[in-house]
Amino acid sequence: MIDTPDNAFQVVADLLVAAGTFGIGMMLWFAGEYVLHRFAMHHLHGTGMMSREHLEHHVHSTWRFSSTHLLSWTGVIVVGAAIWFPVGWLISGVATGVLLAAGWAGGYAFYEYQHARAHLVPPRGRYGRWVRRHHFHHHFGRPMSNHGVSMPLWDHVFGTHESPERIRVPRRLALPWMLDEHGELLDEFTDDYELVGNDRLDERQAGIDRARAFASQAPTD
Ligand SMILES: [Zn+2]
Ligand SMILES: [Zn+2]
Repeated sequence: MIDTPDNAFQVVADLLVAAGTFGIGMMLWFAGEYVLHRFAMHHLHGTGMMSREHLEHHVHSTWRFSSTHLLSWTGVIVVGAAIWFPVGWLISGVATGVLLAAGWAGGYAFYEYQHARAHLVPPRGRYGRWVRRHHFHHHFGRPMSNHGVSMPLWDHVFGTHESPERIRVPRRLALPWMLDEHGELLDEFTDDYELVGNDRLDERQAGIDRARAFASQAPTD
């Protein structure tokens, strides 16, 4: 059967509503990302597994896949299925519930992907540059700012957004992609970052870095 214009308009309208519902689900995740990162991770100073794991991430500023990511994924899927699916279903049927929950999980996937890449590989494009500047000021400048990792909306709303001209990075915590073979900052990153402090990786320095990370304070130089 050939679609009539009316049918075609209906298909386009349905697709737009579906995309909008998925987008609302993603926005729900970005709000969750801000709230969890600020309150359940940094304000708790290491009380509970979520806070402890995150503050350990601040101690070394490295990223690698671990079993806690599977736990996080499980939590995200459970919240999507137990909260956002029924909410969407009640508002406008099963499809809305599925799209809202899928958007929530999609937002989480986007966040995990961007966060991992920020730590592991150099930026490509304006967004990649922004994510890294925003997140590494959170790591090294002021951990109680820039709680949204993959989007800045809620930091602007709650007054926790900071964007200094140059991000100060302790040498011992510098991301590998920033450095040349001598451990110095690559020229292409000197507009955005400066290396400060020492590069000691001994136990005393690790203890200082851990204490400051668990107090949600920036590492000393
Ligand atoms: Zn990080
Ligand atoms: Zn953090």
